[in-house]
Amino acid sequence: MSRKSDPSFVLELPLAVSPHESRVLSSRFEAGRQLYNAVLGEAVRRVDLMKQSRAWAAARKMPKGPPKSPEKKARAAEFSLIAETVGFSDYDIQSYATRCKNACWIGDHLDAQTTQKIGTRVFTAAQRYQFRTGGRPRFKPKWKVLESMEGKSNATGLRWREDHIEWNGLSLKARYDKKDKHGIQAFALQNPLKYRRLVRRTIRGKTRWFVQLVLAGSPKWKDKNPVRHVKSSIDIGPSTIAAVSEAGAFLERFCANMPDLQKEIRRIQRAMDRSRRRSNPDNYNQDGTVKKPAPGKRLQWVYTNGYLHLRARLRELHRVLAAYRRTEHGEPANRVVAMGNTVMAEKLSYKTFQRMFGKSVRDRAPGTFMDHLRRKAASAGGEVIEFPTRTTKLSQSCQCGAVVKKPLSKRWHDCSCGVHAQRDLYSAYLGLHVRKNVETWKLDTESAR
Ligand SMILES: [Zn+2]
Repeated sequence: MSRKSDPSFVLELPLAVSPHESRVLSSRFEAGRQLYNAVLGEAVRRVDLMKQSRAWAAARKMPKGPPKSPEKKARAAEFSLIAETVGFSDYDIQSYATRCKNACWIGDHLDAQTTQKIGTRVFTAAQRYQFRTGGRPRFKPKWKVLESMEGKSNATGLRWREDHIEWNGLSLKARYDKKDKHGIQAFALQNPLKYRRLVRRTIRGKTRWFVQLVLAGSPKWKDKNPVRHVKSSIDIGPSTIAAVSEAGAFLERFCANMPDLQKEIRRIQRAMDRSRRRSNPDNYNQDGTVKKPAPGKRLQWVYTNGYLHLRARLRELHRVLAAYRRTEHGEPANRVVAMGNTVMAEKLSYKTFQRMFGKSVRDRAPGTFMDHLRRKAASAGGEVIEFPTRTTKLSQSCQCGAVVKKPLSKRWHDCSCGVHAQRDLYSAYLGLHVRKNVETWKLDTESAR
């Protein structure tokens, strides 16, 4: 058995689905949504019951103790005893899901395996609420369909067979990329299958179905350029990316082709807000804030057709942005890794980034780019090494040892020692010469010289 933390990657293939099959799948997903909600209601009830009990209050007062100490163990044992009494465990929630399914129409649409998976999904959500790492989990309203369903093992239930998905009488063929120019698919399918999901997406207003195969290992390196097994280094600014290695260098605008959709997104959000207010005047206070519902009650919201259209449009815009981001991130990531598969990068605080440069950075998502780069480097047999800016200060440093703060507007590094270089490229260059000395990362000026 491979563990969840082992490296894995996803191969997603579109499914050929007839209109009839699409209807069957939709009703199964709807059954899944309703089951999710029913089980969630019960799970949250059990968590609340647990938290209101006297035993819980007593357990909370027990000494916490350091990790692995007898105190800590005793406290944990007490908590799990309480969870056992109210029936709050993965197993209990799964069996509640099964009972729920068998008691009503949902049983006609779902099999035992997917039902148990939904139980586990609810349990994890409710557990986050129990441990306060997440808020009170929400019910999935009708319009927010379930996005994916999973099977448990490849023996029964939702199964992957060679080139198609089998699920409860349905057999859905996957559409392979026939050319598979770089042999990515063929390579991926040789890896052991960890699990498979059926995914539903709305693309330009149409429902599409996909199978996601989660495979163990790393995807194939597909760039035409052979990977160099040397160091490379990058510098990401709010709008640029600079990369340097012994094989070359480049400086370009980061996500240059991202369309600016923020204006339109804001326009739609405002229109949605106006529409919501117009059709639900009773849900607002005089000052425009949303009313607090009476205890035990929930506010009733009316959504007009116009509102639903706006919401669909908004989702489509977000989908388009995400799709752009994938290509805009993929290309430079490939080039960097081809230049050198051990990538040096400053550990950036993207929060500060956002505070300084606003929404445009959110669209470009440098954090997501770094995730992308890490996966790419790993698939090329390398890695991304991040070092802190605090001790290295590359944007202020020079190979002669001088450290001078420059304003952001100054795009060139000019030093009295004679170095004259473009600022971003130069700090990427210096990144090649950062070393870890015992515990701290430092710029090795001698090596840089
Ligand atoms: Zn200098």
